[in-house]
Amino acid sequence: MESIDILNTPIEFLKGVGPKRAATLQKEFNIFTFRDLLYNFPYRHVDKSTVYRIIDIQAEGSYMQFKGRITSYQIIGQQRNKRLSAQFTDGTGTLELVWFNGIKWIEDILKANHKEWIIFGKPTLFNHKWNMSHPELIDPTAKSEQTVPQHFYPIYNTSEKAKKSGLDSKSIAKLTALLLTQLMSRNIQETLSPNLIEVHHLLGLKSALFNIHYPQSQNHLAMAQYRLKFEELFYVQLKLLKLKLINSKRYRGHIFAQVGENFNFFYHHCLKFELTGAQKRVIKEIRADLKSGQQMNRLLQGDVGSGKTITALLVMLIALDNGFQSCLMAPTEILATQHYENITKQLRNMNIQVALLTGSSKTSERKSILEKLKNGEISILIGTHALIENEVVFKNLGLAVIDEQHRFGVEQRAKLWKKNVPPPHILVMTATPIPRTLAMTLYGDLDLSIIDELPKGRKPIITKHLYEKDRLLLFGFIKKQIALGRQVFVVYPLIKESETMDLLNLEAGFEAMSHAFPLPQYAISMVHGKMKNEVKDFEMQRFIKNETSILLSTTVIEVGIDIPNASVMVIENAERFGLSQLHQLRGRVGRGSDQSYCILMSGDKLTNEGKKRLEAMVSTTDGFEIANFDLKLRGPGDLQGTQQSGILDFKIADISKDEKILTLTREIASKLLENDPNLTHPEHVIVAQQLKEKLKSEHFFGMIS
Ligand code: ADP
Ligand code: MG
Repeated sequence: MESIDILNTPIEFLKGVGPKRAATLQKEFNIFTFRDLLYNFPYRHVDKSTVYRIIDIQAEGSYMQFKGRITSYQIIGQQRNKRLSAQFTDGTGTLELVWFNGIKWIEDILKANHKEWIIFGKPTLFNHKWNMSHPELIDPTAKSEQTVPQHFYPIYNTSEKAKKSGLDSKSIAKLTALLLTQLMSRNIQETLSPNLIEVHHLLGLKSALFNIHYPQSQNHLAMAQYRLKFEELFYVQLKLLKLKLINSKRYRGHIFAQVGENFNFFYHHCLKFELTGAQKRVIKEIRADLKSGQQMNRLLQGDVGSGKTITALLVMLIALDNGFQSCLMAPTEILATQHYENITKQLRNMNIQVALLTGSSKTSERKSILEKLKNGEISILIGTHALIENEVVFKNLGLAVIDEQHRFGVEQRAKLWKKNVPPPHILVMTATPIPRTLAMTLYGDLDLSIIDELPKGRKPIITKHLYEKDRLLLFGFIKKQIALGRQVFVVYPLIKESETMDLLNLEAGFEAMSHAFPLPQYAISMVHGKMKNEVKDFEMQRFIKNETSILLSTTVIEVGIDIPNASVMVIENAERFGLSQLHQLRGRVGRGSDQSYCILMSGDKLTNEGKKRLEAMVSTTDGFEIANFDLKLRGPGDLQGTQQSGILDFKIADISKDEKILTLTREIASKLLENDPNLTHPEHVIVAQQLKEKLKSEHFFGMIS
C-alpha cells in the first residue's frame, strides 16, 4: 500500500523544500503534505506551446496565442470609460481585443503597422463573443530575446511573504513538477469508484492531477478540470445529504396528524383571498413533513410579496389543531410588530392567544408572557431574537418559523431546536432569491419549497433609471402620484465606512425634499437606524396611517414592511446597493391594486458595471433572474447571507459557473444514498472511505448544527 503513504509524506521531505520552506508552505498555503501540494491547483495556465486557431477555443481560463491580423480598431467611450477596441482575425474566426490602459501607445503601434501579429492573452466569452483584454502583441518577425522554449505552464497564487522565502509561482511550479516526476511510476489511490469514472467519462485521478498542473493539451486541461470539479462537488453534496439522513434518523418529530377546527375555520371564514397554486402546493409539501414522524427542516423560498407569511400562519394553525404552540421569529422589531398586528387582525374572530415579545417589551408584560407560555395559554408567540433567550420556555413548542432567514445565523436556528424535546418542526423563510445551485449548497441540509407565483392581479412594477440631472422629472412624478392619493418611499444608502455620512446624506435629502414638497400639502416622515425606537415607531406609524405622504429612510425598511397604499419606491444612489438589496426594496411596493413604480436614482457618472447592474434591474422583476445575474457578475461571495459560510470555499469548482456539474453530482449522490444509505456495497468502498474522511472535518459539523 505504498501508494497511499506517499501522498501523506510531510512536504519538507520533498527535494528542494526543507524545514524552512516547509514552514512557509504550511503558513501561507496550508500545504502540509505531498497531497496538499498536488491539490494546490494553478489558477491559470500560460499556453505558448501552440499557435491556436480562434475556431478551436473551447474553454475560458488559459492564456493562449493566436496569429493573424487586426482589421480595424476604434476608440470608444470617454474619460474613465475610454477603451480601444480592435477586431482581430486569423481566418477561422474573430476576436475582439480591448485595451483600457495605454490606449495612446497601442494606437500608435496599430497606426504604424498593418501586418501580422501574434497575440497572447486570455480569451473570455462576453455576449456570446470571444474577446481578450490587454493581449500581449508579439511581432512574429522580430527575433525573440528569449531563448527558452515556449511552453504550456501553470501559474499559482502566491503571497508577498512566500515570495520572500523564494516561493513565487515559478518555484511552486518547479516543486510541483518535481513531485509529479516522483509519482510518475507510482500508483495514486483513486478517490472515485470505477463505476462513476466509467459512466461519466472522467479522467482517472492520477491523470487529472498531472494534467491540471502540466496539461498535455487544452483538451486534457478541460478534462482534468471537469474531473476535479466533479469530485469536489460530488463529495460536498454527498456530505450534506448524508448529514440530512443522519439528522432525520436521529430526530423523531411530532406527528401532526390532523387538520382541525382552527385551520378550517380560518381557511373558510377569515381568509380574504384565494391562495395561489404555489401556496397550496407548499402547504401540501409541509403537511407531508408534519405527518411523517420525522422532524421537519424546510426552507421556504419565495420572492418578495409572494405571500409567505400567510402560508406560515396556516401551518401554525395546523400545529394548534394538534395541540402544539408555535413561534415566529423576525429579524427586526418593526417587522415583528407588523407580523403581530397583521396576524392578530386576521385571527380576530377566533379565540387564539397571540403574543409579541421583543427587546422592548416591558418587564411586567414580559413576565406575564413567559408565564402564559409555560402554562400553554399562549398559542402563537411572535417576536425578535428575544424569543431564543433561555428564559423563554414553552409548554410544548411544536413549530418554529424563522422569517428572513438570511438575517440570522445558524446558531439561532440551533437554539430554537433546543426549545423542545423532541425539537420543534422548523420552517425558515427567505425572500433572498438564492439561485437553486447556491441554495443546494448553502442549505443542502434543508428541504426546499418554493413559492414561484405572485398573487393574482398584481401589476408588474415599472422600474426606471434616472440620472441626477433628471431630478426635476422625479419631483414632478412624485407630485402627480401624491395627487392621486399614493404614498412614496425614498431610501438612502447606508454607508458602512461612516455612519455620520449616511445621516448627513439623509438629512440633506430631507432638506431638499422639504423644499420641493412644502407643508401643508406634503407631510414627510423620516426614519433611520440611529433614532430611538419610540421615535422611529412614531414616524413609521404616521406613514402607515397615511398621515404622511413621503417616507425618507435609510435601509431600515428593507425587510418585510407591507404598506399597500405606498406605490412609489425611490432609491437614491442606487448604484451603491447590491442587486438583491435593490430587489428587496423594490418589493416594498406593488402590493396594492395600483400601478407601482420603482425609480433608481444614480449619479450622472456611472461605471460600466454600475450601468449594467441598473439595466438588469430595469429589465426584469424576477428575483431569481436578478440573483443569477449578480452571481455571474460578482461571484457568490457578494450574495446576501453567504459571506461567512466557509462552505463556499471551493478549491476548483465555481458554483456560479458549474451549475450543471453541481446538479448532476447532487443527483448521483442522492441516488447512491437511496440505494445504499450506509455505503456498504463493495462497489462503494472508495466512496465510503472518502466520505468518512470528509465527515471528520469539525468545521463542517459546526456549520450544519
Ligand atoms: P412575503 O412573501 O414578501 O413575506 P407577504 O406574506 O408579506 O409576502 O404577503 C404580501 C401581501 O400579499 C400581503 O398583504 C398578503 O396579505 C398578500 N397575499 C398573500 N397571499 C395572497 C394571495 N394568495 N392573494 C392575494 N393576496 C395575497
Ligand atoms: Mg415577509
